[in-house]
Amino acid sequence: MSAFDPDQIHVPAGHFIQGRLIPAPADQAQDVLRPSDGHAYASLPMAQADLVDEAVEGAYTAWRGTDWARRPPRERARVLRRWADLVEADAPTLAPLEAVGSTRPVRDALAWDVPFTADGLRFFAEYADKLGGDVAATRTDHLGMTVAEPYGVVGAITPWNFPLVMASWKVGAALAAGNAVVLKPSELTPFSVLRLAELAVQAGVPAGIFNIVQGDGRVAGAALTRHPRIAKMTFTGSTATGAAIMAACAQHGPKPVTLELGGKSPQLVFDDAPDLERLAGVIAGAITGNAGQVCVAGSRLIVQKGIAAALVAAVAKRFAAHRPGATWDPDATLPPIISRAQALRIDAIVQRAVQAGSVSTSGGLRGNVCGTGSYYLPTLIEGVDAGNPAVLEEIFGPVLTVQTFDTEEEGLALAAHPHYGLAAGVHTANINRALRAMRALSAGTVWINRYGRSNDFVIPTGGYHQSGIGKDLGRQAVEANQRLKSVLIDFGMPG
Ligand code: NAD
Repeated sequence: MSAFDPDQIHVPAGHFIQGRLIPAPADQAQDVLRPSDGHAYASLPMAQADLVDEAVEGAYTAWRGTDWARRPPRERARVLRRWADLVEADAPTLAPLEAVGSTRPVRDALAWDVPFTADGLRFFAEYADKLGGDVAATRTDHLGMTVAEPYGVVGAITPWNFPLVMASWKVGAALAAGNAVVLKPSELTPFSVLRLAELAVQAGVPAGIFNIVQGDGRVAGAALTRHPRIAKMTFTGSTATGAAIMAACAQHGPKPVTLELGGKSPQLVFDDAPDLERLAGVIAGAITGNAGQVCVAGSRLIVQKGIAAALVAAVAKRFAAHRPGATWDPDATLPPIISRAQALRIDAIVQRAVQAGSVSTSGGLRGNVCGTGSYYLPTLIEGVDAGNPAVLEEIFGPVLTVQTFDTEEEGLALAAHPHYGLAAGVHTANINRALRAMRALSAGTVWINRYGRSNDFVIPTGGYHQSGIGKDLGRQAVEANQRLKSVLIDFGMPG
């Protein structure tokens, strides 16, 4: 029995501009496929530059014309909290809508994506009146201070892997800081955020303050990035696209940009790590969650030789137990790959890895699980050296490479990646070793004896090196949506 009937889901389709859903003319629309079964389930309007211009100009007019930026911050916070409540209450609608068009199993969307989206909005709401600027140390007849102000219209571009959550981080932080937003979601998962926007308006976010334009990255995304009224860009996606956006921000501004990019994160395991069975669950979960389509996926297992064979066997057992299936199949444990093209890309890297001398011990591309959806079974690749393509390239699928080491120094050397530095996991019972590794690992996040984020939104997330610039979440995410005005008052003269 299905958790929901994918053909019975009402899918809002269109742009969202000035508080209204704008359906596109049929000749400007493109079929969007359900990843679970390859079925075309809705049509996506593809914005051209003129529509992006209309959305951004409208957002600017709303930002200037409504009191969103000027109203007392606690009132802004109240609206955002109301929005979060509406999102939470809407889970029976939002979760299937998220699941039908993405790789998020409906069970997970209900238990995690929707509540996590709502809690993220609440977290940012709480910052609305917490970040106001400082008083500077000046001579006593001067008052020097900084005043935090919103940028105006923030442009946000998001990837397909967690559509609601990724959008909520960008939009929540920008709105809490008093900005308007124009969001371009991924063309592969464009619809669930429309429901988010409808709920924002219901909660009291003024029309025009949160807008969505749909379309191709190189057309709509590029037009958004270049638009002169976009005062700041925030992006999550691949490193190559992030670099293109940064270049465009330099040429068409310059304007500041936050980039959350790709990763190739190590899970470094020492042979004193306790509880091998639990550990195997953590290691396997870090690369099979969302079928490995997670920016911080722990895709490189680097394990000390003493426990390598036992740990790899326990991980392989967990891999083999996965059951691929549609996002609406309550018994499935492994969701689909987002598209056929992406599944073939994963397979091509695995094939190259094998040609380069490594051994692929399980898994692989799997057809006919459900319609023409693409599924990739969890795959272990052993015997890889540091130059193997499966070690170097972000695969974005459930593929785990295994490398072994003798000494701490060797383990840390293997954990370093030449380009990426998004996240890393360290597993050891030795606190000194754990902290030495934490210092040595060049990554934006280090998890010790766990892998993956908690519900503590206060911990910022972001990458080192080619994994990004700036932070989402935390106080830092709100600060990144504010600019500081410096003020100096001379009150030394007689009044
Ligand atoms: P992508 O870079 O292909 O696309 C991301 C977004 O950028 C999409 O909305 C796309 O339409 C748009 N885009 C594409 N070209 C553009 C251009 N020239 N100008 C403006 N916009 C453009 O990424 P994806 O395949 O959707 O997502 C997977 C990638 O995202 C992986 O690399 C993953 O690691 C990364 N990611 C990173 C984080 C993080 O927090 N660091 C989180 C999730 C995903």
